[in-house]
Parts: sequence; structure tokens; C-alpha cells
Amino acid sequence: MAAGTSSDVFDIVVIGGGINGCGIARDAAGRGWSVYLCEKGDLASATSSASTKLIHGGLRYLEYYQFRLVREALLERETLWRIAPHIIWPLRFVLPHHKALRPAWLLRLGLFMYDHLGGRKLLPPTRTLRLRSDPAGAPLKPEFTLGFEYSDCWVEDSRLVALNARDAANRGAIINPRTNCLEARRDGKVWRLTLKDEPTGEIRTVQARTLVNAAGPWVGDVLQKNLRMNAPAAAWPARWPATGCCCATATSSG
Ligand SMILES: Cc1cc2nc3c(=O)[nH]c(=O)nc-3n(C[C@H](O)[C@H](O)[C@H](O)COP(=O)(O)OP(=O)(O)OC[C@H]3O[C@@H](n4cnc5c(N)ncnc54)[C@H](O)[C@@H]3O)c2cc1C
Repeated sequence: MAAGTSSDVFDIVVIGGGINGCGIARDAAGRGWSVYLCEKGDLASATSSASTKLIHGGLRYLEYYQFRLVREALLERETLWRIAPHIIWPLRFVLPHHKALRPAWLLRLGLFMYDHLGGRKLLPPTRTLRLRSDPAGAPLKPEFTLGFEYSDCWVEDSRLVALNARDAANRGAIINPRTNCLEARRDGKVWRLTLKDEPTGEIRTVQARTLVNAAGPWVGDVLQKNLRMNAPAAAWPARWPATGCCCATATSSG
């Protein structure tokens, strides 16, 4: 994953080596664009190695009628599992019903939608469980008589990031961890980035036609301090089904 030089003008420079930055780098390199990614620490050293590691559709968003969001996340769930079965595994969840929850028929309806909204083909469907006789009920108190078992997946999140970065590099992207973006400035039609190689302290520049700010929780810092832009960061630490992760901001010089 060689270092870029000041004479290069990349199609895209990505700030941030989490899942969003590495995913964007891979996607862009796969489309034939020249890509440079800088990450101030190690790849996946921030949020992308501290997730709950679920690849899920976001069952609870059905309650908010976010059907499109859930559908997209469910479609992505099986796609991800298909392309990386060595780091993603199916996981069954048991939801014991009790009277503080929504009525059982409503939960079953929600899970029916969860099963069918996203074209599930590989994962097993929801099962209704009689908890007194089903082994899944064995560790539960006897008052739990009814439950539901449904599917999602779990992932080794940091490996997913590293594999995206590896594949982006295989497609020609330059991926530079331990490279801090100190400043990004418009210079005519290009962005000029000042970068610091953290281990050596060496300063260098790269240029790009398009800049992607995928700095996760630092997305606002990068906008305001590095880019000196007053625009509010289009990212907020909130909710996360499989595809609805933190927003990245992209700025084109064109
Ligand atoms: C507790 C928890 C549980 C979660 N569970 C799930 C889940 O089950 N499923 C799911 O899909 N999502 C989940 N998420 C959300 C998911 O983890 C995040 O949405 C995702 O990791 C964000 O990725 P990112 O690439 O945007 O940010 P990050 O992974 O934070 O990456 C941003 C990177 O930018 C770098 N950076 C910042 N400033 C600079 C700079 N100036 N120069 C160079 N690099 C810079 C940082 O070092 C960092 O590595 C969870 C999150 C948390 C916290």
C-alpha cells in the first residue's frame, strides 16, 4: 500500500480508514478511479472496531415505518455474508415474549416482514417457539411460554475494514495508515492536502479532484479545522442498521 507523492493528482482522496472510508476507497477503485486514503492511526482503530459487530436489518426501525432503510440493510446483509463468509456468520436471536412487549401477533407480523422485505434467501426464517418444550426455553423462567427465533449475522468488524482496504489496494488504491491529514485546501481545480506521516513526522502533500471526509466522529473537526469550512457536519452519532451507518461527506472541486 505505497505512499503517494506530491505530483500525483488523484481522482479521489479519502480521509479516514474506518469502514466507510475503506468501503468508499474500494468502491471508487473498483470503478477505475485513482484513489488515495489517509488514516491518522491504524485502519479500523476507531468506531469500526468498537461496534456490536452485527450485520442486521434494523428490526426496530419497522416500528418507525422505515421500510426502505430496513429493506436496503437486509439486502446488504446477505450480500456481505455471501462475499465474506470467512468473517461473517449467521446468528439466531431468541426473543422471549412477555406482557411488557408489543402484542405477540404484532411481533410475529414484524418478524414476517423482516423475513420477506429484503429478499432473504440464505438465512433461515423466523420460528415461533413454545418455550416450555423448546430447548431455547430451558434457561428461562417458567413464566416465559412463547418466543420467536429470528436471524441476523455477526461480523469481525475490524477484519471487514482491513479486507476492504486490501481489496481497494489490489484495485490500485493507495492506502496510507498512520498518516494524519493536517489541512486540506482548494487550489484552483484541485484539493491540496497536507499530510503528516506519524511515525517519522515527515510532511508531504497530495492533490485530488474530489475529497471525501470519512472521519467518523471527527467528521466535524475535519470540516471545521482541516478544511476551514463552516458547513455543519452531516453526521451524527445515532442509530445503525447495516447500511445506515455514519455519514461521510464528499466535496468535489469541479
Ligand atoms: C457501540 C457501537 C455499536 C455499534 N454497532 C453496530 C452494529 O451492530 N452494526 C453496524 O452496522 N454498525 C454499528 N455501529 C456503528 C458503526 O460502528 C459505525 O457507524 C461505523 O464504524 C462508522 O465508521 P466510519 O468509517 O464512519 O468511522 P470510524 O471507524 O470512526 O473511522 C473514522 C476514521 O477517521 C480517522 N480520522 C479522523 N480524523 C482524521 C484525520 N485528520 N486524518 C486522517 N484520519 C482521520 C480516524 O482515526 C478513524 O479511524 C456501532 C457503533 C458503536 C459505537
